[in-house]
Amino acid sequence: MVDPNATFDDLLPEALRFRSPAPLVDIGANLTHASFAADLEAVLRRARAANVTTLIVTGTDRAHAEQAVQLAQRFPGLHATAGVHPHDASHWDASLATAMRELHRRPEVVAVGECGLDFHRNFSTPAAQERAFEAQLGLAVESGKPLFIHERDAGRRMREMLRTWRDDISDAVVHCFTAERETLHGYLDLDLHIGLTGWICDERRGIHLRELVRDIPLERLMVETDCPYLLPRDLPAKLKGRRNEPSLLPWIVREIAHWRGSDEAQLARATTHTARRFFRLAAAGEADEARRAQQES
Ligand SMILES: [Zn+2]
Repeated sequence: MVDPNATFDDLLPEALRFRSPAPLVDIGANLTHASFAADLEAVLRRARAANVTTLIVTGTDRAHAEQAVQLAQRFPGLHATAGVHPHDASHWDASLATAMRELHRRPEVVAVGECGLDFHRNFSTPAAQERAFEAQLGLAVESGKPLFIHERDAGRRMREMLRTWRDDISDAVVHCFTAERETLHGYLDLDLHIGLTGWICDERRGIHLRELVRDIPLERLMVETDCPYLLPRDLPAKLKGRRNEPSLLPWIVREIAHWRGSDEAQLARATTHTARRFFRLAAAGEADEARRAQQES
């Protein structure tokens, strides 16, 4: 359905006004980031104009997860995740666990995360990261909701931990996958989903992904901007402010389709179908509508 009110405004140059041939789900949008505070409604309008109809707003700590829930309440088509990012793992304690458990009960929250391991930067110690991740694996089992996982330079340990938990968790996506073949196949062997960002558009560090993307089964693949981060490096025009946003997702999908040797529309339809199933968006949408009806009555 084309939204008659959806327009691109002045921010995006003509060359960056993409429109996906089929509706898209951006499974990783950090819309609670301060850089979106001033013009979020315009960002959402441009997303709709680009046919990016559903956004999963990433909750990376308690405050951001609560904000993500509020955005999901305010705007149709938005859903939230709730977790503690490995960078913040040192803050994990019993009260945070309680807060997360409560967030996971909310209908707006469609996944547990962003959580995981990041041994690239080690802003929290590896021990603290494993402790917080283990606890959130437990919360995913409790809630039955899928996991939204972050992993950087920690593929081996991640696979070990997930192997232990795999039978108990419902589903998991490794978002912004950037690792090598061995890690990819390890994840696929564990029957996980893979999220791809505009990393593949990066001619310095994304080259290896261009070959790898063919190895991901179509029904295991989802797409995301990870905005405001990871602005695609090969956009056909410069963007003022260099902030990535959901309306640029069709460009990433086009690029992934190119390297897979597949059709853009087919890839768009498949990733959306997968995301709707993975995050159980039909059920979340019904809860959303019921709540809105109640608010209006
Ligand atoms: Zn991440």
